[in-house]
Amino acid sequence: MAFPENVTITEVCPRDGFQSLPEIIPTEDKIEIINQILECGYKQIEVTSFVHPKAIPQLKDAGEVLQGISRKNGVKLRALVPNLRGLERAIEARVDKIKLMLSATDSHSISNANRTTFDAMKEFEPLIVRAQDSTVAVSGSISVIFGCPYEGDVPLERITEICKRYIDLGIYDISLADTTGMANPAKVKKIVGRIKEHFPEMKLSMHLHNTRGMAFANAIAGLEEGITDFDSSIAGLGGCPYAPNASGNIASEDLIHGFEEMGINTGIDLDKVITIGKLLQERFPQFSDSFILKAGKCSDLHIAPKSQEKLG
Ligand code: ZN
Repeated sequence: MAFPENVTITEVCPRDGFQSLPEIIPTEDKIEIINQILECGYKQIEVTSFVHPKAIPQLKDAGEVLQGISRKNGVKLRALVPNLRGLERAIEARVDKIKLMLSATDSHSISNANRTTFDAMKEFEPLIVRAQDSTVAVSGSISVIFGCPYEGDVPLERITEICKRYIDLGIYDISLADTTGMANPAKVKKIVGRIKEHFPEMKLSMHLHNTRGMAFANAIAGLEEGITDFDSSIAGLGGCPYAPNASGNIASEDLIHGFEEMGINTGIDLDKVITIGKLLQERFPQFSDSFILKAGKCSDLHIAPKSQEKLG
């Protein structure tokens, strides 16, 4: 099949990456890192999450971070919002887009947010009404859609029902999240194919974790199903604080490099991303996970060693 010419990658390191780190990063360091990311050519960055400061202390400075960064025309700033209080903070901080999160299974939803999937969805209603009254765009996401660490595969009927309810709420922009890296290309094709068949009007994106080394293969399966929007995190930082042993997002440099090698344009300056990745890797060595930071780019050619002289 022919691959698309262009894809769009959203950088999620400042949110998904940072929130998994045990050491609190000073606000000015976050601002500095995001300012560097803003220069890479991304069209969207997930900068933070407006969760309760006690839930994720690392992101309690969400408002200050947004106030401190150098905004750039054409780069949308997205943030996670779990409730009305968070939405008010996000509006005040002038984010362009919010992301509402829910889990595909009740077990994951209850362990993560203390409520069932459909109860969480009901609580979205007042947020959507409030957001409509502002300039903030609303998107949604479905965590553990490709497999739940507590329940395994999610029935297709349940996925269809979640998507239908999202559409009933007026949300078409949906991120499919492989939160604990349980997807494989066949599953991606089955689930994305099913959603597209029932809801062709939905604008789908993928949020892939590389827990079992399958994230890039899953991205290609998504591409084959027509998805051209992907999340990734520089240096592969990020896990899920609620998922046991979940490792990071697919590294941005791996995803960008892979696409560019295939002739698919990302619009992102890979060398700038690698520079930021090296800094993050140096600072958080045990949390980074990136092939390109280890091996370099395919185009980094080496000088061939001289052939060894034959013995004797
Ligand atoms: Zn994630």
